[in-house]
Amino acid sequence: MNQQRYWNESALVLKRYSAGEKDRQVILYIKGVGKISAKARGAKNLTSPFVSRLSPLNTCRVLMYRAGSGYWTITQCETLREFTPEKHSTKKAIIGLTMMDIIDRCSEPEHVNDPLYEVTIETLEKLELMIDEKKMEQLFDIFQVKIFEILGILPSFSHCTRCHQKIDPEKISGWDMLQITCHDCEKFNPKKHARETFNKEYLKLLNYLQKNTIEASLKISMDEDQNKDMKKMLRTLWNAQTFSLPKSFDVLESLHA
Ligand SMILES: [Zn+2]
Repeated sequence: MNQQRYWNESALVLKRYSAGEKDRQVILYIKGVGKISAKARGAKNLTSPFVSRLSPLNTCRVLMYRAGSGYWTITQCETLREFTPEKHSTKKAIIGLTMMDIIDRCSEPEHVNDPLYEVTIETLEKLELMIDEKKMEQLFDIFQVKIFEILGILPSFSHCTRCHQKIDPEKISGWDMLQITCHDCEKFNPKKHARETFNKEYLKLLNYLQKNTIEASLKISMDEDQNKDMKKMLRTLWNAQTFSLPKSFDVLESLHA
């Protein structure tokens, strides 16, 4: 049986749950590896160092091996970065945990996607320092746009979905998160009254968020209506995916500041 042990230098803990009487199963997102599920033996024992180190939102250095059966086991763990949002804000904690849940849901096991890891770490680092709850919400929205972009599920808004002609953003007739139509096609769109369309100003905003850094995107100030529309757009996009949203996502919407 091949039981070669090796260290992984940057493992973000997405989730953990009980596995039998003494162990815990931990879902990690590791740079250069992707998402994996690993067993932490004895981690339910209160004196085990795993208890606090392998907490969701923490980044760790882990020593692990893979058994012949293909299952991963963690044998040692050092905390590189501890994220303890609950000490500061409930909303911060829910946003952080919802991010972890989203990453778990939208990633395939052992599929390497380092940009996904990096944007998540960067968002967590910014979130940890935040005090203003409105900015936290904005950061979470930006995070979602970045995730959509990395996963390639943000539609291209430069061409008409129907006739594939390039569209002048100033002449947009109707659009939602799944399709954008030019004047000519919109005339013949039988569903034009059935779908929810958005103000074309938001196309510029989405474009900006895609092209710019999180830091620059946080400087945009949005009013209450824009905030609501942003959340509606993101929700539409999530609803078109094969995975469902975590329940905490609804909790966050109900806590909207
Ligand atoms: Zn068209």
